Amino acid sequence: MARVYNFSAGPATLPEAVLEQVREELLDYRGSGMSVMEMSHRDRAFTAIAEQAEADLRALLGVPSRYRVLFMQGGATAQFSLVPMQLARGRTRADYVLTGSWSRKAAREAARYLDVHIAAEGEHAVPPRAQWRLSADAAYVHYTPNETIDGVEFHWLPDVGDLPLVADFSSSFLSRPIDVSRFGLIYAGAQKNAGPAGVTIVLVDGELLDEPHAALPSVFNYRSVADHASMLNTPPCFAWYVCGLVFRWLLEQGGLAEMAGRNRRKANLLYHYLDGQDFYHCPVAPADRSWMNVVFRLPEPALDAAFLQGATAAGLDGLQGHRLVGGMRASLYNAFPEAGVHLLIDYLREFARRA
Ligand code: PMP
Repeated sequence: MARVYNFSAGPATLPEAVLEQVREELLDYRGSGMSVMEMSHRDRAFTAIAEQAEADLRALLGVPSRYRVLFMQGGATAQFSLVPMQLARGRTRADYVLTGSWSRKAAREAARYLDVHIAAEGEHAVPPRAQWRLSADAAYVHYTPNETIDGVEFHWLPDVGDLPLVADFSSSFLSRPIDVSRFGLIYAGAQKNAGPAGVTIVLVDGELLDEPHAALPSVFNYRSVADHASMLNTPPCFAWYVCGLVFRWLLEQGGLAEMAGRNRRKANLLYHYLDGQDFYHCPVAPADRSWMNVVFRLPEPALDAAFLQGATAAGLDGLQGHRLVGGMRASLYNAFPEAGVHLLIDYLREFARRA
């Protein structure tokens, strides 16, 4: 069996130990005589999986008790609508900070439900807090801590006073410790750092849940989902189970402070190489470069195909940048091993030398 180094932005590489445990338990989950895939979500074996996953996630992030933890469907994209439909609380305006493709999409979708005010905007960089123009009457302030496509990451937590702070953490969830109590709501698609596709994790301050938009599908009602332990209808059981194994793996590795150290080190290795040569180019402002998604460009797009072909032959997979921006992207999520970064740097050096 030859596993490649998978730089995909998501779905993305999972910890090998987790995949092995999945294989181990695939046909007979801990003596139940069936796979988790075949189990009723009302079965005690599954509710135990679900409860343990929530408890481990709460422990990893230190989630305060007033926050509800939801395992939802619909991806982060559904949250682009579900947030404005439920956090407006009678207000008609929300503030959005734009730092790349995903925050723009979130703002565009929210504009279907309320008046979106762009509080600040950055291109290949995070706009400094002093430049933000927040609305006093905003229902919330939305931002994207890590822009998966553009490789731009906040390395600081914005202070927005009394306004609820809402964050799309899809591509940096669980990559470092965060102070959950500073947020009104956090959402994240699982398929980067938390598990396989199919689950979206939401942490919401229970005090923000008020009357939702009249057209909200009841299956997406945060309060109802929370009150039904995320089993208002059939949940994505298998994906939820694998997320639970990833949470357990993270705890065993030493938790999020340990992950932050590893992630910083991996990203710095690659940025250090990129900054020390002039063949490849990273367009992102140095202070705002993502630890999770390292974007870089070759001198000519015409070289991209040969670069990718050689990378695949060297066992380096998934380096093609998002179709919206082109270029290359190396995603270095929690489960991505440092050895793969060294191999990528060797390949970058060799390709530049030959080109
Ligand atoms: N937000 C961010 C930051 C993302 O990276 C992605 C997916 N790459 C999305 C939203 C959309 O997520 P989904 O496909 O789960 O709807």
